[in-house]
Amino acid sequence: MGKILVVEDEAAIAELIALHLRHEGHQPRIAISGPDAQAALLEQLPDLIVLDWMLPGEPGPTLLARWRTDPRTKSLPVIMLTARAQETDKIKGLDAGADDYLTKPFSPAELMARVRALLRRRAPEALDAPLQAGELKLDPAARRVFSGGRELQLGPTEFKLLRYLMSHPERVHTRAQLLDKVWGDHVFIEERTVDVHVKRLRDALRPAGCDELIETVRGSGYRLAAARVNA
Ligand code: CA
Repeated sequence: MGKILVVEDEAAIAELIALHLRHEGHQPRIAISGPDAQAALLEQLPDLIVLDWMLPGEPGPTLLARWRTDPRTKSLPVIMLTARAQETDKIKGLDAGADDYLTKPFSPAELMARVRALLRRRAPEALDAPLQAGELKLDPAARRVFSGGRELQLGPTEFKLLRYLMSHPERVHTRAQLLDKVWGDHVFIEERTVDVHVKRLRDALRPAGCDELIETVRGSGYRLAAARVNA
């Protein structure tokens, strides 16, 4: 769910995108030109921008290049739309700073999937505040985990898994949910893989006596029991 700015001068396409975004629970806003988009950005920063390449006046990549030089809009996720399928244009679009790229005609379902993936990818990065559960401290910015001043060694997947669990404590996560949230979209990994990494995570936490933080909920999945270590 997010505020999405749709910059597209063709009303029918803009409306179609907005319709699908609303259906997914997002709050779309349509801008029909560069100046219109600029005004919308000044008023309120969206969570994501869908930007058409061909616009009256300044084309999408020019707008995007300018947004990327402004600290306020520098890291806004942008999906570029274009009718041109040439590889050089794709490269230009990505060079201008687009996070993703879709060629017209596209299926709304695919655009929605890209929006979802990009919002999800960006969301954890935005929250760089250190996380704590009992003695366990996780510093997302430094990618380090400590317990009572002692640093624990975690593999990259175990780190992501722990970060996700610590961000959502006291909640049961199914293996499918963990695959979706930790491993991301388009993964074709067996759910058993989650068990393997949970085991590795517990092994890494054991020297600090924090392995029991990760509880197995029979028939459901896993839970981080933040209260448990304080007991
Ligand atoms: Ca257009």
